[in-house]
Amino acid sequence: MPSPTVKIDAYRTPAGRIIGAALTNNRAYQRLAYLTDRIGNRLSGSTNLERAIAWALAEMKSDGLDNVRAEKVMVPHWVRGEESLELVSPVARKLTLLGLGNSVATPAEGVSAEAVVVRDFAELDALSERVRGKIVVYNAPFVNYGATVQYRLNGASRAARYGAVAALVRSITPVSLQTAHTGAMNYDPQQPKIPTAAITIEAAELLQRLYDRGEHPTMRLKMEAKFLPDAESANVIAELKGSERPDEIVLIGGHFDSWDVGQGAHDDGGSCIAAWEAIRLLKELGLRPRRTIRVVLFTNEENGTRGGTGYRDAHRAELAKHIFAIESDSGIYRPEGLALAANAPLLVRSNLVEIAKLLSGIDADRIGDNGGGADIGPSMREGVVGANLDVDETHYFDIHHTQADTLDKIDPRDLSLCVATLAVYAYTIADLPESLGAN
Ligand SMILES: [Zn+2]
Repeated sequence: MPSPTVKIDAYRTPAGRIIGAALTNNRAYQRLAYLTDRIGNRLSGSTNLERAIAWALAEMKSDGLDNVRAEKVMVPHWVRGEESLELVSPVARKLTLLGLGNSVATPAEGVSAEAVVVRDFAELDALSERVRGKIVVYNAPFVNYGATVQYRLNGASRAARYGAVAALVRSITPVSLQTAHTGAMNYDPQQPKIPTAAITIEAAELLQRLYDRGEHPTMRLKMEAKFLPDAESANVIAELKGSERPDEIVLIGGHFDSWDVGQGAHDDGGSCIAAWEAIRLLKELGLRPRRTIRVVLFTNEENGTRGGTGYRDAHRAELAKHIFAIESDSGIYRPEGLALAANAPLLVRSNLVEIAKLLSGIDADRIGDNGGGADIGPSMREGVVGANLDVDETHYFDIHHTQADTLDKIDPRDLSLCVATLAVYAYTIADLPESLGAN
């Protein structure tokens, strides 16, 4: 790795001030409380999301941030409607479910069929046409999110290929207290679209036991899910304008939309509030960097990523002036550092390892690998060097995309530490007299 070219001594005092200020005020937590308790969850197309956007714009203006604006983006508008799942035989029981985002509805009378329970795609492929007319239940234990989410994303079409009439997916989570986890799914255009929903680990294991004992579990699934016409939404932008090179940008942000359950506290309201609070705090401390720090609250990450692609399209002409981008979308937990994009120049990595020393006092000084994010991804594919805020994700997938993603799951101190971490990295990178090494 090349030697770092940045000098961090001048940043020790500002970093200390930032961390101290972040840990001794509760502005971010108060704002997150308003967003979660008074507005609530924020699915694309919902009134709640647009209320949240209007609220953020007004508050950012009252904070005195620069260039506060909404940039219009059209978003998909999927609505869940009523939904239910019953085990009909060998015993009658109501089961907890959450329809998967993008799913089609069942007929009004529901889909009634025998369940076939598989632990993985290999078991499905072995059964092949024997699942015709059946409801396929994927009871895949959680390995890690990226691996196990394949059942949620592709399970319906894989089952439809063999003639299944519906697909139920064990929630993508390591633990459950009867918690169903929703999330986006994709239909293969080559296959019939069948309705699909998440069930709890408890329900998946019950169905597995009945099936393994040859007790032929039979179920009735009812879903009203549908798409309405695309709706108008917006990315929310606020800046701390640079003092010397205002056209050069360090972007920080997260996604303001959420699923239509819980409060979208960890995913991803907390990250949006943390990025916003980072520049508000810098402004309050009189720390105006040489370059501009731009906060972006992206719309529609969960079921379309239209905010991320819309941002890239609207800002294509200035992407080359984006010095660095940091996305936060792993929940509000103790920050550990940044995960840097795999293809980032080695000099950027070397310089970030140096800058990270400013955060050793709060243990947020690790520069990891394979970073990036869904919202900055489109811009990164055009050459922007990016990273994501790395946090202790141990318990993120316990509550991710559930009714339980609520404010009480957020430790106010972790939120303050995320604010401090984002603010120190963003401020230092934006203020460096020299280049970070990205361009
Ligand atoms: Zn998210």
